[in-house]
Amino acid sequence: MNHQRQWVSAAIAKIQADFQRSADTHLIKVDLPQLKGIDIYLKDESTHPTGSLKHRLARSLFLYALCNGNIKEDTVIVEASSGSTAISEAYFARLLGLRFIAVMAKSTSIQKITEIKRYGGECFLVDSTNLIYAESERLAKELNGYYMDQFTNAERATDWRGNNNIADSIFIQMQHEPHPVPTHIVMSAGTGGTSATIGRYIRYHQLTTELTVVDPENSVFYDYYLTGDKQLINGKGSLIEGIGRPRVEPSFIASVIDNMLCVDNKQSIAAMLWTASLLGRKVGASTGTNMFGVLKLAQKMIEQGQTGSIVTLMCDRGERYTNSYYDQQWVASNIGDISLQQDSITHYLAKITNE
Ligand SMILES: *Cc1c(COP(=O)(O)O)cnc(C)c1O
Repeated sequence: MNHQRQWVSAAIAKIQADFQRSADTHLIKVDLPQLKGIDIYLKDESTHPTGSLKHRLARSLFLYALCNGNIKEDTVIVEASSGSTAISEAYFARLLGLRFIAVMAKSTSIQKITEIKRYGGECFLVDSTNLIYAESERLAKELNGYYMDQFTNAERATDWRGNNNIADSIFIQMQHEPHPVPTHIVMSAGTGGTSATIGRYIRYHQLTTELTVVDPENSVFYDYYLTGDKQLINGKGSLIEGIGRPRVEPSFIASVIDNMLCVDNKQSIAAMLWTASLLGRKVGASTGTNMFGVLKLAQKMIEQGQTGSIVTLMCDRGERYTNSYYDQQWVASNIGDISLQQDSITHYLAKITNE
């Protein structure tokens, strides 16, 4: 083996040793007796070493790039990110001794920037999310580096057939539950990588589970799902960090999604706060979007007299957003008055309790 191949082998061995030291994430059964006959589960992706589901993605992207021969001993890694992926990639870059630069919108939460820097990553901030792609490409070219491009590679870097993916983990952890095959799995989309993995896995294993993707305001995914128009653009940018995109990302695979729902920002934040009080700990806003979708589907199942289980993800924890989603002032000026949405969740649960 030449020196270059030896370095790549050692790098892959380091990532595999890191994996060996890691445990799987919990599948939490959410205590919601009001939803009679319907069990709700949250796959807690916040407990990865770097705090979000992007830990899985970053590991896969590094392995994919290493095995493709795209990363060498002195390659500068560049990534376009809304923050979570950059944190996880900074972690793996440090593990391999590589320089890492994250290109992000300047609206990215300060906690995320701090975490990237803690792992030795550098942050390059641009005015809006629309600019991160071109800027990443330019930087990678200029530094003779490699643009990881999660928004293209997420769906292909993840091995959806094998046993090292989130879908496999969910279905194994559900095995001893009253309804082991969920009626629904609900997920939001950033890269779309997680929904692609789950959707393909369900089909590959011939399962009856339906995959619902929930999409926030100012994201093009929902309209793309309806129209098939790949050119859609939304310049405003999603206010729910981690999900909703201004353009149709190549890694978003609409054909494996059974159903999509739009969730407005007020509903996401109301559901986030409700989930946090239910669990006794803060969750991120995209988990609120997910949980709002869960409530909608549970409501539909109850109306139709169905029983079963619904699984969704806790994508990251709320501590990253203490200055935004958990700051009432911030919510009032950026999202608006959410009291109606909060009341409607409480009233719904109270109503079905008495039925
Ligand atoms: C990336 C992300 C998602 C969406 O996951 P994808 O697999 O990229 O679609 C949801 N929530 C948070 C906090 C994220 O960072």
